[in-house]
Amino acid sequence: MQRQSLVIANWKMNGSRHLVKQLANTLRNAPEVLADVTVAVCPPAVLLAAWQSEVFYDQVHLGAQDVNENASGAHTGEHSLALVAEAGAEYVLIGHSERRQFYGDTEQRIQAKVESALAATEPKFKVVLCVGESEQEREAEQTMQVVQAQLESALQNVTSAKMAQVVIAYEPVWAIGTGKTASPAQAQEVHAFIRQWLQQKYDAAGTSVPLLYGGSVKAENAETLFAEADIDGGLIGGASLEPEAFLAICRAA
Ligand code: PGA
Repeated sequence: MQRQSLVIANWKMNGSRHLVKQLANTLRNAPEVLADVTVAVCPPAVLLAAWQSEVFYDQVHLGAQDVNENASGAHTGEHSLALVAEAGAEYVLIGHSERRQFYGDTEQRIQAKVESALAATEPKFKVVLCVGESEQEREAEQTMQVVQAQLESALQNVTSAKMAQVVIAYEPVWAIGTGKTASPAQAQEVHAFIRQWLQQKYDAAGTSVPLLYGGSVKAENAETLFAEADIDGGLIGGASLEPEAFLAICRAA
């Protein structure tokens, strides 16, 4: 099964209007890369509008780093799906480990966010569900159980038809922002496990779900990671703040 390669930039709480211009220019000058690989950028929500004015939509997609599960109302500081859609977002990251660890994303909230994002119709969002184990869990050989529990919880009510809108990002917590990348074999082992889980639950629909690896992906290691059978691209933090490095990663996908 040939899945389209996908590379997503996660700027986290970084970036500027200047960086929007720089990265947009770098990508615009590489149409051959954008023809081959789907590229999405998730800047801080306040910079989505700056991207919207830079970017030609059919070529670089925009995404939000998180979303509130409620449609509107008294949620100071939060963003609804409708608000991020208005600023051009078509993708939304849900359940990033930093949100799980520090910002109250429990399994229940992640499930609620996934379900409200998949229920939205304008646009039909792509949901990038992030899963991954901590260093302690890996050392205790619980990686597969942890990942499976995260998938089971977040996707419990998601149907096969809705899986066409879902992307899974495997991001081992110990590899995020640490410079310690999972080896291609380590990443592939978990991706194969996720693929098998998806196929068991969703049959053919599980085969089409793109699986991204995230955690210290750099220009230097992207190619060997993306060469693995079940790694369809990457979710890129630090290296997405350097336009040339990000472009090299997109090229490798
Ligand atoms: P990193 O972050 O590439 O800086 O490790 C990846 C992520 O958290 O999505």
